[in-house]
Amino acid sequence: MSENYMRISLRLLPSVDEVLRDARVTKMLEDHPRIVVLEAARAVLADARKGILSGAVKTRQDIKKEEYLEMVVEKTAAAVKCSIRPYLRRVINATGVILHTNLGRAILSERAREAVSIVASNYSNLELDLKIGRRGSRYAALENLLTSLTGAEDALVVNNNAAAVLLALSTAARGREVIVSRGQLVEIGGSFRIPEVMAQSGAKLVEVGATNKTHPEDYRKAIGGDTAMLLHVHTSNYRIIGFTRETTVSELVEIGREYNLPVMSDLGSGSLLDLSRFGLPQEPTVQEVLKAGPDIVTFSGDKLLGGPQAGIILGRRLYIEKMKKNPLTRAVRIDKMTVAALEATLREYQDEEKAIREIPTLQMLTVNQEILEKRAYCLENLLQSVLDKTLAQLTVEKGVSAVGGGAMPTAELLTAVVAVSPHNISAGELQAALRRGEPAVMGRVQEDRLILDLRTINDSELQPLAEAVAQALKQ
Ligand SMILES: *Cc1c(COP(=O)(O)O)cnc(C)c1O
Repeated sequence: MSENYMRISLRLLPSVDEVLRDARVTKMLEDHPRIVVLEAARAVLADARKGILSGAVKTRQDIKKEEYLEMVVEKTAAAVKCSIRPYLRRVINATGVILHTNLGRAILSERAREAVSIVASNYSNLELDLKIGRRGSRYAALENLLTSLTGAEDALVVNNNAAAVLLALSTAARGREVIVSRGQLVEIGGSFRIPEVMAQSGAKLVEVGATNKTHPEDYRKAIGGDTAMLLHVHTSNYRIIGFTRETTVSELVEIGREYNLPVMSDLGSGSLLDLSRFGLPQEPTVQEVLKAGPDIVTFSGDKLLGGPQAGIILGRRLYIEKMKKNPLTRAVRIDKMTVAALEATLREYQDEEKAIREIPTLQMLTVNQEILEKRAYCLENLLQSVLDKTLAQLTVEKGVSAVGGGAMPTAELLTAVVAVSPHNISAGELQAALRRGEPAVMGRVQEDRLILDLRTINDSELQPLAEAVAQALKQ
């Protein structure tokens, strides 16, 4: 294309004002904020200009100004539609990973959702004691529930478990030494690393033992005048297997008593229920860990507990009282929606069977194979009825799902899946189309098939999921 010809094409592009005067765009301006429409039109025009200069926008000698206007208006309408969609939106989780950190970890029980909605839409007694009419503590109800459920002496809840660890270390060990096993210097989710959190807290990390073995003697030898604490960290998202020796929390408590040092256990996931009767790995519950006698225990609210994002700190009053007075506590405090959701979640645990029925994370962890298979056949049927048969082949199969969220990394949960083998596109392309669809769907790809794991899908999602798959295959 000659430079001259390009200049003519560029001149034929409408101006922003001309676009805004178009009747269809005027209508858009009635329905949407001016800034949204204006930015969309500007972006489309900038794109068209670039396209003409690079040759990506095909043009002809005899192209008319109206054709360009038509194109720009159409693209502006699409850009506006895209821009008004909330960035954070619902995703159907067909990965089978129950605590998927990228997908928001735990989903809340109905009671917890209702509690959030009530405090979000009304004033509440967040920091008012209604009985005496004076200032109250936002943590009061949570403290009572947590101590009653776990047997801990005192409790405190902060923004997340990373904040819980930071606050505990900063309160009990700032400027002094904390002894940790080399095998427990975990990284979780790429942003939480024990050595880095410890550096932020002002505590000095003293590593002991080897990656696979740390003996009680290693801790004893490292204790000196500057030692403030012995720390045990749950190796949440990995396991060291083979020749291993981990010093247990109770062994650390014994050493702590010998030297008059506090012991802290960062449990990471922390479960209030023993889930081994459902075939899940035997992990000590929070209550069992507390019985071993550590001074401080921390865990997440949105991992196995199945509540909102929060960091739960349990332990001896002496330490928790000090943490409450640390100015950092104000910086990492929870908001009213978290208080509401966590209170409702903890109340579910007052009846264990009810907790398993009502808390989605526990439901998904314990659901039996028969139900998963029924769900898979139901999804297959729905897909058969909405799908163009020439586009893909479907099979119902057994599969394996993961707990996720850095919890129970070796657990393999037998599940049922629907495997979709697309004929005209790759499984990866189908996965991407589903991700960008409405509602968005996340599945996993295995041997060029898209796997839809029924463990993390509830009955009401089956129909929209089937339609989303049909839609994605059509493109
Ligand atoms: C997950 C985890 C954390 C971080 O908890 P968040 O609630 O994600 O901040 C800390 N320690 C361990 C051992 C964990 O597993």
